[in-house]
Amino acid sequence: MNLWPNELLRRLRSAGHVTVLTGAGISAESGIPTFRDAQTGLWARYTPQELATPQAFAQNPERVWQWYTWRRSLITSAQPNAGHRALAALERQASGFTLITQNIDGLHQAAGSRQVIELHGSIHRVRCLEAGHRFPWPEEDTAAPPPCPTCGSPLRPDVVWFGEALPTPALEAAFQAARRCDVFLSIGTSAIVQPAAQLPLIAQEHGALLIEINPQPTPLTPLADACIAAPAGTALPQLVQMLTGRRET
Ligand code: NAD
Repeated sequence: MNLWPNELLRRLRSAGHVTVLTGAGISAESGIPTFRDAQTGLWARYTPQELATPQAFAQNPERVWQWYTWRRSLITSAQPNAGHRALAALERQASGFTLITQNIDGLHQAAGSRQVIELHGSIHRVRCLEAGHRFPWPEEDTAAPPPCPTCGSPLRPDVVWFGEALPTPALEAAFQAARRCDVFLSIGTSAIVQPAAQLPLIAQEHGALLIEINPQPTPLTPLADACIAAPAGTALPQLVQMLTGRRET
């Protein structure tokens, strides 16, 4: 089935700059659980707010560390999917392209995307609580957060928790990319987590065509100029093929 009307393809072909925002949905086809799905088994009795907050880490650092160790083990065994690869292909052929992600899984980079703005940090890094020294995630699994090799304060995942500010340089770059683009694609995000949820609307206010790709409706759906109600792993490879004539595998 052709998901892409000619008018959308025409606008995408003539766009000087395309900006993309992705959320947990783009990694769903790689088998990475969204927060809601991640409340399984051992972790079913906790909500993300009990695990992904500075307060949770202060109260029970071992529990939070173990939850992230578990989530990271799921992520490191996952592979990028056809949607991630199609976005890397779009970046290669576009005249201007910015990829912004709310994901912490690093799968866009693994698929070959060169420039990725990570709004919520990365699960592949840690940083220390006191001084913010950053390191790759430790190779050895431990039950408790290990100490910072430089200053001895506990290491935490280098991700943005509920109630924390987003990294300013990433946020500024994301807002700039939203203001300057001709087409904005919102992909696999429920479009409710702020401030990322403002980005599609800012793009639209500045004249961009706003396209959503999500099999389920979101609060953005009635506002978008077009909605492709299909999984990203189907819609994006089809888009690349229609734009370039090449099939990405
Ligand atoms: P979300 O879980 O709130 O929404 C996911 C959206 O993806 C839903 O609207 C769903 O309908 C859609 N979706 C599901 N399967 C899809 C598919 N195959 N193709 C396209 N869309 C699909 O996720 P969010 O909007 O990213 O916000 C929640 C927060 O969770 C973010 O802050 C993010 O950092 C965090 N998170 C990230 C990861 C990750 O790194 N992979 C995983 C879990 C949570």
